[in-house]
Amino acid sequence: MTRISNLFDLQDIDLEIDSRRVAISEAESRLGESEEVETAAGVTIEREAEVQELHKKLKAAEWEVEDLTNKIKPLEKKLYGGSVHIPKELASIEEDIRFIQARKRVLEDKELDVMSQLEEAERALAAAKHEHATLLTEWEEEQRRLNQERENLTAEIAQLEDKRAAQRSRIDGEALALYDALRATHQGRAVAKVERGTCGGCRISLPMSLLQRARGRSDVVVQCSSCERILYVS
Ligand SMILES: [Zn+2]
Repeated sequence: MTRISNLFDLQDIDLEIDSRRVAISEAESRLGESEEVETAAGVTIEREAEVQELHKKLKAAEWEVEDLTNKIKPLEKKLYGGSVHIPKELASIEEDIRFIQARKRVLEDKELDVMSQLEEAERALAAAKHEHATLLTEWEEEQRRLNQERENLTAEIAQLEDKRAAQRSRIDGEALALYDALRATHQGRAVAKVERGTCGGCRISLPMSLLQRARGRSDVVVQCSSCERILYVS
């Protein structure tokens, strides 16, 4: 003879196993690569490329300035060296020098501009690296925690499975078959407690005759007339 309380206790164990399985799949859904970390890594790579590009630009600007400085030197030598005496020619050299110096000033301004852009890009790169490192650490910690959680839950399920097997051995085959079938079709709840004359599964008021049968012997399977769950009077 199967006591209904045995079925109710079996359901408690089964529900505990169910909730742990849900927790495991939730943990597993959060295991693996993180889109947030990937995005932060991508941003860091972009910022790095920007910094490199500006370094190149700065180098090029420096070369141009140096090139003009080198062009001015021989002209000045010619102008002040005393080798040229014709005023018209001297004036022409002066004109050339002024022209190159004007061009040089423009390029020096450009160089300063690139320098400040580079400083800003370097600050942005440092911020991106910091953000990436922070997210990566958080993600690694979460992965460790989730793996540990999965391990704990798996161990708990193993213990509950032993308890479940022991509990099932106390119940006869016919009652187990009904219990299993109802659990499969009733969201894991095959047994419903009777509370103030209503079925705890579907909340319907139970007919008096059914209540009397359920309250009578604790080893007779009585099912709810509405949801078919096995009624348990505690
Ligand atoms: Zn019911």
